[in-house]
Amino acid sequence: MTSSTQTTGFQELGLPEPILQSLRELGYETPSPIQQASIPVVMTGGDLIGQAQTGTGKTAAFALPLLAKLDPTQNEPQVLVMTPTRELAVQVAEAFQRYARHLPKFRIAPIYGGQDFRPQLKLLKQGVHVVVGTPGRLLDHLRRGSLDISRIHSLVLDEADEMLRMGFIEDVEAILSHCSGNQQTALFSATMPQAIRRIADNYLTDPQHIVIKSATATVDRIDQSHWLVDGRRKLEALRRYLETRTFDAVIVFVRTRDSASEVAEKVNAWGYRSEAIHGAINQNQREKVINGLKKNKFDILVATDVAARGLDVDRFSHVVNFDIPYDSESYVHRIGRTGRAGRSGTAILFVTRREHRLLRSIEQDTKQRIPRSDMPDQEAVTEQRISRFKENVATALANPPSELASQLAKDITAELQVTPETITALLIDWLHEDNPLTSNDPEETGKSDEPDIPHEASSLKAHPEVEMERFRLDLGKSHGIGVGDIVGAIINELGIDSELVGEINLRRRYSTVDLPAGMPRELFSQLKKIKIRKKLLGIRRYGKSDSGSGSGSRSGSGSTSKAAAKPANKSSRPAKGKPGGANKRLPKGGKPKFQRRSDRSSKN
Ligand code: AMP
Repeated sequence: MTSSTQTTGFQELGLPEPILQSLRELGYETPSPIQQASIPVVMTGGDLIGQAQTGTGKTAAFALPLLAKLDPTQNEPQVLVMTPTRELAVQVAEAFQRYARHLPKFRIAPIYGGQDFRPQLKLLKQGVHVVVGTPGRLLDHLRRGSLDISRIHSLVLDEADEMLRMGFIEDVEAILSHCSGNQQTALFSATMPQAIRRIADNYLTDPQHIVIKSATATVDRIDQSHWLVDGRRKLEALRRYLETRTFDAVIVFVRTRDSASEVAEKVNAWGYRSEAIHGAINQNQREKVINGLKKNKFDILVATDVAARGLDVDRFSHVVNFDIPYDSESYVHRIGRTGRAGRSGTAILFVTRREHRLLRSIEQDTKQRIPRSDMPDQEAVTEQRISRFKENVATALANPPSELASQLAKDITAELQVTPETITALLIDWLHEDNPLTSNDPEETGKSDEPDIPHEASSLKAHPEVEMERFRLDLGKSHGIGVGDIVGAIINELGIDSELVGEINLRRRYSTVDLPAGMPRELFSQLKKIKIRKKLLGIRRYGKSDSGSGSGSRSGSGSTSKAAAKPANKSSRPAKGKPGGANKRLPKGGKPKFQRRSDRSSKN
């Protein structure tokens, strides 16, 4: 499995280089079964009936060969794709654009109801190669004369049974009557009701009928279920899954190389040990990763289907289908990675709303239900963290604490006149400063649940030479606070210059603030006590900060920080020597980063 073989499958299907290049960039490794079967038929101009639903890769099954056949010099519609919904029209148009990114001058028009006619008219007037649209609006344009499909050479009916179900079948037939009749036609439908069969009989010539046959292996030992997951929240779902399971090793299946690397990176950032394998890594690297897995050097493998072929590891207790597989055969293969050597195993399948039918067909093919279960909510995650923590404490109790620690505990309770409970509680908070026990952060997953609420950023720029660190505050706009309140509270309470307060991002329920790295413990404790509008600031370390590099800009996750900011400590234990305060954290030869105005003036 070397990088040169990445798109061999697609190459063998005769796709031209600019399209192969897009596929390489998109990380597609091999054609899915429907692609394997359909591309040659469409390439040679034949008619086709494809029984497949969303998620099987059917869009590329027609888009790739049709793009290969386009004549870019002909500035008129050559391909027409009909879809039942506006959403699907947009998706299909976007897919075409992605695959055509190396075809200069390629133009496509999505045409659907509910949108003003004017932009559509303008697009059509300018000339497009492909039109993707919903039947009603397409018909409107045909009647107005703003669309001419008499010279198209290819027609695709996507999700034909859905068009029937939604009552569009007459419109579809009316549109078909506007075509020359010489075009090639591909009809995709998950089911073949009578009305669709009739259309196929009337309008398709000698079509090739492609149904993807699936394996139906029984997999009794594997406990299977699915979660309905919003496509944009899959990472969050994965995190919750990992947090609420007890596992030996987990294999996470994704579709592309890029998502393999991205997911593994995230999983590592959450504090697990993870590696990715995909078709672009060479055999040596792959073996190294697999050996590492066998030797317990890491526990979570993120893989594409190709890379997981022939994987022989008994450790997997759980399989996560992060992206739904194209077909039942892949599903059976994927979940078969667990429950090996007579053990039992667990498999979860993340299903988005649009992929529901694919789930049903996997169930049909494997002759079993994959029951739905609910994604644990934040309370459940918190509960799990707490019970894990308690378990860890119980385990640790098996070894008595050191004499020094025991003595210190006695001294502290006596000297400070605090109860052992208070000290224990403080230490618990301390231990979880960077990894809170409560799960209430949408951004823990690297995604905010408030994407469309514009945040207010302070105009303050960090002092250019100061290394910054990002903190999170439990206060946001909904608590009635503004940037000025935060700056004011911090500079007044800490007695530092306002220029040391870096970027502030004010969100609805929380905010972030950049402060110089290496804040002494006393100052941090002081900050924790600050209240604005009678509410505690709830400050904690957030992650890397990227202001202070002189650029003052901020990347979404902060992970591309240019500044040498210290990342948040991800381990659940405090870093060694933590109580040491500022001096221990200062870079070699660096000047003190966190000076109170009073300290500085006494030295000057
Ligand atoms: P579709 O069934 O056309 O809706 O495709 C479902 C998803 O699979 C889309 O996100 C595609 O980008 C992705 N996809 C399609 N074909 C491939 C492939 N050969 N390799 C990897 N991903 C693919």
